[in-house]
Amino acid sequence: AAKRAGGGNYVLFEPHMGTDAAEQLALQNDLRQALDRGELSLHYQPKIDGADGQICGVEALLRWQHPQHGMVSPTVFIGLAERFGLIGRLGNWVINEACRQMAEWAKNGTAMRVAINISAHQLREHGLVERIEEALIRHRVNASQLLCEITESVAMDDIKATQRTFDGLARIGVFLSIDDFGSGYSSLNYLRQLPARQLKIDRSFVKDLETSEDARAVVGAVVKLAHALGLRVVAEGVETSGQRDVLLGMRCDELQGFFFARPMPADSLLAWAQSESQAEKARAAAL
Ligand code: C2E
Ligand code: MG
Ligand code: MG
Ligand code: MG
Repeated sequence: AAKRAGGGNYVLFEPHMGTDAAEQLALQNDLRQALDRGELSLHYQPKIDGADGQICGVEALLRWQHPQHGMVSPTVFIGLAERFGLIGRLGNWVINEACRQMAEWAKNGTAMRVAINISAHQLREHGLVERIEEALIRHRVNASQLLCEITESVAMDDIKATQRTFDGLARIGVFLSIDDFGSGYSSLNYLRQLPARQLKIDRSFVKDLETSEDARAVVGAVVKLAHALGLRVVAEGVETSGQRDVLLGMRCDELQGFFFARPMPADSLLAWAQSESQAEKARAAAL
């Protein structure tokens, strides 16, 4: 079952979850071997600073290039990995690969802030903090260059684990972000207690910014709430200049979405950043 991704530029393979057992089993075996075969990679999507329009970091997004099916969506294979007990290995690979890439960028003179996504399994696992610390040391990367994104619903589902992991990561200097904010239910009291640095507003609100008064009211209120709590606020899924303008008017700190750039391989990112900064200079000179 191949399907054109919503607005995507490649075909994504999406198995019929739970219905086709044979397909699931085959995919599970393939996923087991994907790491060894080097089929996994990280793509990086720029985050744009609302104040100056410059790139201020990237989010690392996991990609699986399946030998027969092509690109498989992470929303599919991360779920599979969680169910089949492979998420630990996958998560460790992401941590190490992101740190390795950060070191490579730093060596080339372009230190880049990188955000990685943390799964529910990783949040509960003891030893995540040590694992991340080890990877940072191994690759000589500064902890404050790394950001961990945890989905709101996952973070609020197990407050104890969240508090423990967040405290541990904050202690070693890693920044923390609540992802897909607004898609779950947050206790504002817990939110206040977590050592997070950032809130990412869920794409579903950003999508309706130009057409829905309600969406504008919610996003405006979330920006104010985040700022009152001393958090930076990021909008994900920005696809139009209209959405960008509304968000900038609300003083949203960072913007991320297809309007600026799609996730891309590491070796495309520096070229992209350079051409963007040239374009930005030209725009400034023309004013
Ligand atoms: P997420 O962390 O909320 O990541 C943002 C998703 O939105 C990405 O989808 C990104 O490609 C997509 N996106 C970015 N800008 C736009 C836009 O303007 N329009 C639209 N329609 N989409 C946009 P992707 O790469 O398919 O990842 C989906 C989810 O899979 C992620 O959501 C995250 O929850 C999970 N994920 C991805 N990589 C990892 C990973 O390394 N580890 C874990 N645990 N989860 C991951
Ligand atoms: Mg994320
Ligand atoms: Mg997100
Ligand atoms: Mg999202």
